[in-house]
Amino acid sequence: MRTKKFVRLAVSQLLALGITITGLVAVSVVTASPAHADACYTWSRTLNRGDSGEDVRILQSRIAGWMSYGENLALDGNFGPGTEAALKRFQSGYGLTADGIAGSATYSKIYALQDDDCTPIHFNHSEFNYSCGERDYTGGAVSESTAKVNQLRVMWQLEAMRHKLGDRPFAITSGFRSYSCNSSVGGSSSSRHLYGEAADMGTGSGPTLCEMARAARYAGFEEILGPGYSGHNDHTHVANRSSRFWSAPSCGI
Ligand SMILES: [Zn+2]
Repeated sequence: MRTKKFVRLAVSQLLALGITITGLVAVSVVTASPAHADACYTWSRTLNRGDSGEDVRILQSRIAGWMSYGENLALDGNFGPGTEAALKRFQSGYGLTADGIAGSATYSKIYALQDDDCTPIHFNHSEFNYSCGERDYTGGAVSESTAKVNQLRVMWQLEAMRHKLGDRPFAITSGFRSYSCNSSVGGSSSSRHLYGEAADMGTGSGPTLCEMARAARYAGFEEILGPGYSGHNDHTHVANRSSRFWSAPSCGI
């Protein structure tokens, strides 16, 4: 009986303590959040070479368009040499100290570039999931959530391309497509549009189709199709895939 009572007391004390701790943590989290962070994601530590984790993976997704010629960045959560090189290019591209270390200056720039829904400021889901008027990412070759994540990566690659090309707007003419949408527009049965891994830019863009096709080679895209390639004289197509296929003969690609 005495033991039972002791246990009950200990539990009630722990409960009381637990509630107090929870309350304190909740308050400190709110006050510790940087004022410039938004509803998408807030990094809580400095990241550099050798670090790993989900926070690294999310950083990688934001800088995946800052590549060297023909390279692409694996979103594997491991901060290796490729991530460091991409981060340095990102930092340099936005006038920051190119030290390859993600700290407050880097995070502030990413926060300034990202919307609350994690899309980059110059692109929105509505531009990419509206190829046939769907307004969602269902009916393709992968699940809705996978297609949405894939398309988000493409948007960040395009945000990098857009900045490198002098911050001129891109006219997105097609993004994710369901199977029925893809058939109706005459897309290939293995189109990356079915995976949310592709984007088409039209002639209404600020840069020319060839400028965008050339820049895509430095933005991590394995698939680039543009003027001179069958069916692509009126748009430039970029996509992520596992092996390289570039063809835009009129642009020298
Ligand atoms: Zn396309």
